[in-house]
Amino acid sequence: MVHRSGPASARPRGNSPVRTCVGCRVRAEAGELLRVVLVDGDLAFDLRRRAAGRGAWLHPEPGCLDKAERRRAFARALRVPGPLDIEGLRRDLEQLVHRVTGPGSSRAGLDQRKQVDPS
Ligand SMILES: [Zn+2]
Repeated sequence: MVHRSGPASARPRGNSPVRTCVGCRVRAEAGELLRVVLVDGDLAFDLRRRAAGRGAWLHPEPGCLDKAERRRAFARALRVPGPLDIEGLRRDLEQLVHRVTGPGSSRAGLDQRKQVDPS
């Protein structure tokens, strides 16, 4: 699916909503942040940004996740009592970051081809 005709993709700046990262408290366009929601009592990334209810916004960076955990920002942003477990989020975030980085980080295997030593 390639939609390449038309200048529709050139959105004017300042048109997208601005959210605050619950980790570092820096404001950024919503497109740069990940939305975090509560699913059955567990934190989860709302990658489609369509889940109902409250959402917390976070940079796709483990450092921001750590900061958010330390100040219990998720519980506050989502209006729930008690600490929330972020282990699931941490795992998902690692996978997301790897996907963004793309393939190529696992090149090491290619250099380990059979090297027959003819001695
Ligand atoms: Zn952040």
